[in-house]
Amino acid sequence: MSDQNQNEKDTSSTVDAVVIGAGFSGLYLAHKLQELGLNFRGFEAGPGVGGTWQWNRYPGARTDSLSKIYAYTFSKELTAEWTWTERYPSQAEVLAYLEHVADRFDLRQHFTFNTAVERADYDEESNEWLVQSANGEVTRSRFLLTAVGLLSAPNLPPFKGIEQFRGKWAHSARWPKEGIDLTGKKVAVVGTGSTGIQIIPAIADSVAELTVFQRTPNYVVPAQNRLLTTEEQEEPKKHFESLKRQVREHPFAMAFEAPGRNAIDVSEDERQKVFEEAWDKGGFHFLFESFDDLSVNRESNEYACDFIRSKIADVVEDSATAELLSPRGYPYGSKRPPAGTNYYETFNKPNVHIVDVSSDPIVEITPTGLRTTSESFDFDTIIFATGFDASTGSVTRIDIRGRSGESLAEKWKHGPLTNLGYSTAGFPNLLMATGPLSPFANIPTCSEETVDWIVDCIKYMQENGHATIESTPNAEAEWAEHVSDVAHQSLTAEGEKVNTWFAGANIEGKAHAINVYFGGANDYFARGRASADAGYKGFTLT
Ligand code: NAP
Repeated sequence: MSDQNQNEKDTSSTVDAVVIGAGFSGLYLAHKLQELGLNFRGFEAGPGVGGTWQWNRYPGARTDSLSKIYAYTFSKELTAEWTWTERYPSQAEVLAYLEHVADRFDLRQHFTFNTAVERADYDEESNEWLVQSANGEVTRSRFLLTAVGLLSAPNLPPFKGIEQFRGKWAHSARWPKEGIDLTGKKVAVVGTGSTGIQIIPAIADSVAELTVFQRTPNYVVPAQNRLLTTEEQEEPKKHFESLKRQVREHPFAMAFEAPGRNAIDVSEDERQKVFEEAWDKGGFHFLFESFDDLSVNRESNEYACDFIRSKIADVVEDSATAELLSPRGYPYGSKRPPAGTNYYETFNKPNVHIVDVSSDPIVEITPTGLRTTSESFDFDTIIFATGFDASTGSVTRIDIRGRSGESLAEKWKHGPLTNLGYSTAGFPNLLMATGPLSPFANIPTCSEETVDWIVDCIKYMQENGHATIESTPNAEAEWAEHVSDVAHQSLTAEGEKVNTWFAGANIEGKAHAINVYFGGANDYFARGRASADAGYKGFTLT
């Protein structure tokens, strides 16, 4: 593009705010900015709204959060008119919900789709961000608002030879809209995190052969998904206010009651009974409604691990396979615990095989399949369920340059620095919804709370005539230290030795630093409010 064209585009598009992303956070941000009457533009890399739920169309994709809480709470009318069908809604149902939200609140008009933001430069003189999108367009904006999600930058390990594979391959988070026909095919799944665990049972019956390449076994609790009863469907409508309050008071923004007992304090019989009941309830009930001390007491955690391993041994018929699937040597919950549907049962099928790549890694993708150090395998299709460059990746994949051209990726090369996830020093008016060092908790609630904070902040700045906001260097250093301390006071930080994304440990070459807050979403929301009430303590306003 010539300079002249560039300048024409610069001036034709000057706005108050640019929103990046049209998932849960971006749509709500658009709704709030629309209400505020701000002149803004949204950019979305995907072909439509939905974020995670637009991209992750892989077989078996669904939430691990109960449908009654995996939704917005900003509109009672919206809740009243939407009815979930399953306990854990499928990708298609969540996407339909977000599409409904976009239509109902007339939000699509603000977004340019199929258009990633590639670069953003802060121009000190004009106090504007120059936001460059993939189509070459440059938008000038006072605020740069990222709503790019925690888990949206796919991680494809740099496998040698992938370009020579003659079959079809896909990363789970870039699953084609038209799907992939796996019927009667020889299929490999690489990865056994929350995603792989959903894909494996979903495709086992239709493929000819399924080979699962597992590096670290996970503690998989059954989701216990099923259709909701009419009464359950009415629950979020009937108890709108109390559910809204409850999710905001829970450390993981989920509508659970703390059980009020510790595994260490009860008899063996009582422990088994509680675990059994929590297992039957499924998913996060097991972690959050069994005992209070699983994340902090090693012995209690080990009781939970033993219980899960005993379930694996009960379900999986072949003892060598059961042993391979049994996690050992790291605490339950220190990797994000997945919820499965017939996960362990699937390994009893004669066409399903498991290959341990913990000590015999995948070294190459070949024209006909893949090769570990000791063996070669042939496949028609390879599915990489290899996760994400979490938390920071979705932000730093955009080349964001602050004052004096400082690169955000460079600034965070030893780990993210933000005050409460919202802002980082040297990058004025860059505000992040669910940003790095914000809590890992039920996402829709975190989206709403962080967007509310951002929009309240913009309003405050307008009312008080402030031109810029950014974190103070001290506040972000203290926050990053606190985030790390909190994780290290529990067993959570131990996941680093088994590559947890919580610590950036799943990405080769990425700094190992805790990148999400485990001190409680409720605690975090209160801290955000306290800072705002004190005139944005920890932030510099000019
Ligand atoms: P993940 O948890 O990071 O799992 C990636 C998997 O790929 C791991 O099993 C990992 O092994 C394996 N892997 C990575 N590189 C490999 C290599 N070179 N060779 C062999 N194996 C390799 O990613 P994910 O399953 O996509 O899930 C990420 C997060 O997304 C979840 O923790 C969750 O928060 C969210 N998610 C949520 C849902 C839901 O709510 N239903 C569903 C899917 C995802 P190691 O463990 O050894 O590193």
